[in-house]
Amino acid sequence: VTIGDRFDETAQRWSEREALVECQSGRRWTYGELRDDVDRLARGLLAVGVAAGDRVGIWAPNCAEWVHVQLATAKIGAILVTVNPAYRTHEVQYVIDQAGISVMVVAERFRTSDYPAMLEEIASEVPSLARTVVIGSSGWEQLLERGDEVDAGELRERQGSLDPGEAINIQYTSGTTGFPKGATLSHRNILGNGFFVGEYCGYTEEDRICIPVPFYHCFGMVMGNLAAITHGSCMVIPAAGFDPAASLDAVEAERCTSLYGVPTMFIAEWALPDFAERDVSSVRTGIMAGSPCPAEMMRKVIDAGITDMTICYGMTETSPVSTQTTADDPFEAKVGTVGRVGPHLEVAVVDPVTGETVPRGEPGELCTKGYSVMLGYWDEPEKTAEVLRDGWMHTGDLAVMDEQGYLRITGRIKDLVIRGGENIYPREIEEFLYTHPDVLDAQVIGVPDEKYGEELMAWVQLRDGAEPMTAQSLREFASGSLAHYKIPRYVHVVDEFPMTVTGKVRKVEMRAAAEEILS
Ligand code: ATP
Ligand code: MG
Repeated sequence: VTIGDRFDETAQRWSEREALVECQSGRRWTYGELRDDVDRLARGLLAVGVAAGDRVGIWAPNCAEWVHVQLATAKIGAILVTVNPAYRTHEVQYVIDQAGISVMVVAERFRTSDYPAMLEEIASEVPSLARTVVIGSSGWEQLLERGDEVDAGELRERQGSLDPGEAINIQYTSGTTGFPKGATLSHRNILGNGFFVGEYCGYTEEDRICIPVPFYHCFGMVMGNLAAITHGSCMVIPAAGFDPAASLDAVEAERCTSLYGVPTMFIAEWALPDFAERDVSSVRTGIMAGSPCPAEMMRKVIDAGITDMTICYGMTETSPVSTQTTADDPFEAKVGTVGRVGPHLEVAVVDPVTGETVPRGEPGELCTKGYSVMLGYWDEPEKTAEVLRDGWMHTGDLAVMDEQGYLRITGRIKDLVIRGGENIYPREIEEFLYTHPDVLDAQVIGVPDEKYGEELMAWVQLRDGAEPMTAQSLREFASGSLAHYKIPRYVHVVDEFPMTVTGKVRKVEMRAAAEEILS
C-alpha cells in the first residue's frame, strides 16, 4: 500500500483518537482532524499544479505542519525532499538544484535562520524553484484555500494512481563523513520500515511517542511519524530544535509512553540538574539510535524504569532501520548490541577487501539487503553503484555478529584507527572512558603520528566540578584496564563536540581540528 492509503485507513479507524500534539503551541489534532487538514493541503498542492514525481522541499524544524506536508505530498505522489533546518544558503542551494525542487515549504524563522530571506538571496541561482510557501503566512492560508476549490474526487484519483514502489522521499544523509548524499526512498521502503519499528516497540493506539529527533531525518519522519501512523499512535513534538528540558516536559505533560533520541540527547536529559524530580514513569519503550549507544547510558535508561527501551541500527540509505533490540532480549544484548536483523531483511558481515562473509565473532563490513534498501542516490548513479551491489547495501560500518545473531557495531570503516599495525576501534575506548566518574561524554579519534602511523586522541566532556583531566591522569586511570596501545596518547577537554543536526559527532571535523591542536 501507499503511505496515503495507509494513513487514511488509520484515520478512519481511530478518527477520534489523538494523532499529533505540538507542545509549545498547545495545538493538537485527532486522526480525523489530521486527515481533514492533510487532505486540504494535498488538494491545495494539486490546485497549484504539483504533479506526481515533482520534488517538494521542506525546510523547517519540527512542527505540526511538517507532518501535514509529509502526508499531503505522499497522498499526491510528490517526492518530499527533507532539508536540514541547519543548512545555510550554500547548502540549500545545492539541494534545491541537485533534487530539482519546484516547491519549497519553509518555516518563517528558527533561531537565527530566516528561511524566506535565505531563499530570496539565492533565487536567481535555482531556476527549478517556482514557488515558496512560508508556513503560517498568508501564502500558506491561500494554498489551503485553493485546496477548497479542488474536488475530493481529484485527490482520490491521484492517490489511487500511485505505486508503492515509486520514489516518495529524498533524504540527504547526515553528512557525518563528508558531503550529504540524497537517498531516494519509496513508499514501500519507508512505510514498511516505520511499520516494523512500531511492531518492535509494541505500539498500539494507546501509545504516545515523544519525538525530539529531527523530522527531516528518517529517525523522526519514519521511526517516529510513520511508526505512529501505522499503529494509530500519537506523535508528540516537544519543541522546534532539541532541548533536553522541553523533551522531559513533554513526556510529563503528555504522559508519553515512548521516548526517542540519539545517545547525546539521552545523556543531556539524564544530566539535567532536576532529573531526579522528573516523572518518566509513563515511558515504557523508546528508541536510542543514530550513533554508538553507550551501554552505560542504556543501563541508566533501563534503571529509570524504561525497561523496554530499544536500540536500533540503520542508515538513511536503508529507510533507516536494519536491526533492533526487543523488550524480550537478554539484558546484556539490550544494552550492548544493536539487536538482530529485522523482518524481511538480510544482513551479512563481509571482509571489505575480498567480499567473503567472515566467521561469526569476527569484524567485517556490514551489508544489508531487502525491502528497505533505497532505490539509489538521487541522480548519482556512480555513487549508487559504489555502495549498492547485487541488491546489497554496503554500509561502511564495521560490525561483529555473535552466535545468536546479535550485532555489535564496532565503528565506521573511515574511523578505524591503525596504530603500529594494531586495529583499534575507537568505540571500545569510548565505552571505557564512559566508566570514568568525571566523564560526561567522550569521543576518540586517530591522529597522524610519525612513529606509529596513528595515535589515539580522546576528546572528553567533563561533569561539572570534575578534576581537570590530562593525558597523564587518564593513563593512570586506564592502565591495568586497557592494553597500553589503546590508552589515548592525547586528551583534549571540550565543552561540546562538533555535531550534525541529527546529533552525530563529526569526527571529520575533530580530525581536522586535532591537527591544529597538536601543531
Ligand atoms: P554520511 O553518510 O553523510 O556521512 P551518516 O552516515 O551519519 O552521514 P545517517 O544515514 O544519518 O548519515 O547515519 C547512518 C550511520 O549512523 C550508520 O551508517 C552508522 O555509522 C551510524 N549508526 C546508526 N545507528 C547506530 C547505532 N545504533 N550504533 C552505531 N552506529 C550507528
Ligand atoms: Mg552514511
